[in-house]
Amino acid sequence: NNEEAAAKAAAVNADSGTPTIFDKIIAKEISSTIVYEDEKVLAFRDINPQAPVHVLIIPKLRDGLTMLGKVSVYHCYFSRLKNSPIAEARHGEILSHLLYTAKIVAEKEGILDGFRVVINNGPDACQSVYHLHLHVLGGRQMKWPPG
Ligand code: 5GP
Repeated sequence: NNEEAAAKAAAVNADSGTPTIFDKIIAKEISSTIVYEDEKVLAFRDINPQAPVHVLIIPKLRDGLTMLGKVSVYHCYFSRLKNSPIAEARHGEILSHLLYTAKIVAEKEGILDGFRVVINNGPDACQSVYHLHLHVLGGRQMKWPPG
């Protein structure tokens, strides 16, 4: 389907060394609606919301965090992805800070009664931007399993 094809195309073009659209958002070259910001993370509304509340949380310094984990050998035809830097032990602090920020965002947005935190990792999960990000979704009844 279209979504799958777009994710695969994004993965093929993913390049660890190249800035993504999120760098432009951090630099405020592209406008976004910022929900929360501190020296390490930025939280802003998704341009294509999948729920009444849909916020993305990103590290301001990508610093090797294109994604959480590497794609498998099966995906070695995504050669640039295969070589993408991923989460390492040294990223522990920023990873926990990102997750803690999800709680701050949920609190601010008034969705503490139910919200979802998602990381799409790699092409099979429809990751489209290779700068690690958390999705915080809420404001409607969520379903399980997710699509
Ligand atoms: P992924 O599919 O990689 O998990 O999520 C990337 C998200 O970034 C998508 O939900 C997409 O809607 C969002 N996105 C892509 N470009 C922009 C943009 O320019 N501005 C904002 N606010 N969100 C964006």
